Amino acid sequence: MHSDKICVIGAGPAGLATAYELTKKGYKVDVYEADSQVGGMSRSFNLWGQIVDLGPHRFFSTDKRINNLWLEIAGDEYQEVNRITRVFYQGKYFYYPLKVMNVLSNLGLFTSAMCMLSYAKERLAPTKPDGSFENWVVSRFGRRLFEIFFKTYSEKLWGISCKDLDSDFAAQRIKKLSLMEAVINAFKGGKGNTHKSLVDQFYYANGGTGQIYEKMAAYVAQNGGNIHLSKRIHGLSVDGTVVKGIIDENQQNIAYDHVISSMPITQLVQHLPSAPAAVQDAVSQLEFRNTVLVYLEVDGIDLFPDNWLYVHSPQLKTGRITNFRNWVPELYGNKQTTILVLEYWCNFDDAEWSMPDLDFENLAKKELIETGLHQGKEILNSHVFKIPRCYPIYKVGYKDHLEVMTEYLKTFQNFQAVGRYGSFKYNNQDHSLLMGILAAENIENGYAHNLWDINTDYDSYQEETQD
Ligand SMILES: Cc1cc2nc3c(=O)[nH]c(=O)nc-3n(C[C@H](O)[C@H](O)[C@H](O)COP(=O)(O)OP(=O)(O)OC[C@H]3O[C@@H](n4cnc5c(N)ncnc54)[C@H](O)[C@@H]3O)c2cc1C
Repeated sequence: MHSDKICVIGAGPAGLATAYELTKKGYKVDVYEADSQVGGMSRSFNLWGQIVDLGPHRFFSTDKRINNLWLEIAGDEYQEVNRITRVFYQGKYFYYPLKVMNVLSNLGLFTSAMCMLSYAKERLAPTKPDGSFENWVVSRFGRRLFEIFFKTYSEKLWGISCKDLDSDFAAQRIKKLSLMEAVINAFKGGKGNTHKSLVDQFYYANGGTGQIYEKMAAYVAQNGGNIHLSKRIHGLSVDGTVVKGIIDENQQNIAYDHVISSMPITQLVQHLPSAPAAVQDAVSQLEFRNTVLVYLEVDGIDLFPDNWLYVHSPQLKTGRITNFRNWVPELYGNKQTTILVLEYWCNFDDAEWSMPDLDFENLAKKELIETGLHQGKEILNSHVFKIPRCYPIYKVGYKDHLEVMTEYLKTFQNFQAVGRYGSFKYNNQDHSLLMGILAAENIENGYAHNLWDINTDYDSYQEETQD
């Protein structure tokens, strides 16, 4: 057993991957988790006798290291799920990935022709890039398709105009996807998809996404580590540029040789009294978007075939509807009901964030009924779950603020920031797992990897437009 004292803040995918890898190598790791269970945003839990996740959580990676880790943990308790996802727009369903005949028949000849014309216009005289998401997408797909397939969803999700959204979001999520690629794939019936946006299968653990993280935590605990649940960490205790350990909620200092944090980086810096005013100022400009999940139990099965549906219709506030009946049967067992979850997004100062649960439940029921997706069946139960600081907002200019913060944090040699909250990056599970693996390697190899340089747009990380 190595003698270094190591602390990991947060038991989500990033924190647990670090702890798991270090434990395997004979280190003793203490993990502190604010919640009463592990898994972070990728946790699963029991609701009305069924297993659900926090919204849809598929696992996919083209990176061998990450797949190997996931498969090692999953053992034989997982399945490959055929993905069905569609876009709900103006009462119609568009397959995603796009299927040409479906798009043509839904949009009608006139709108389809207008889409092709606006696409052709971009090929002849492309819209100039100005760093915004809007121009990035318009220049590749044409304005018409931008308005139908990108604008409303993105503006619901981010709460800002697509003009104010940094093109990094697109570069990360839809980097190499072009209209031609989507159309060619549609004609090929999806065969030969290599782009992650067009991937038709994904891995899913039989016990829900969170089962992977429950197993990782169990391994850590069984092999000398400690998982402290319901332990919120206030921040770091530092002496100059050396991190001496952590400060818990009761303001107690606990000494460590290395600290790896996946708690919201903005809070961590805000709680560092020695951080210069310029750094604090930069951090105050970095914002996260919150999510409100409304779970509804419907008295029936076979409601609709999708794993999840993107809701582009501007008249509905919800942005996505997940159907947990369409993942793996182990989630629902013998139950004859369907659990759906409707997603809403808001900021702390929006009225929605403080809206009473009952009002949210009524809104979600009303919107579900408007879509007709419940097939006229009774809605038996409802439950609201709020996730603060869910999505790092890539508002134009955010990179400058992030750089001020990261340059400051880089001065601490025995500290690493990992994960979606932890590094202010729009990570999926695979990306957070990679950060965890590399953070563990850093402890062993004298901090050879610069985690701040890992971006979600490296080749394995082109996620789709709408996760
Ligand atoms: C609705 C939704 C859908 C998603 N869909 C997908 C998908 O399909 N595929 C996919 O791969 N990913 C998906 N994701 C993203 C995925 O959930 C995250 O990428 C992943 O969970 C990030 O892992 P993490 O460890 O970086 O952060 P987190 O999962 O956020 O874990 C951080 C942990 O730190 C804890 N913590 C925070 N503050 C403190 C503190 N002060 N002290 C102690 N602990 C603290 C938190 O409680 C949490 O457990 C989705 C996310 C959401 C919200």
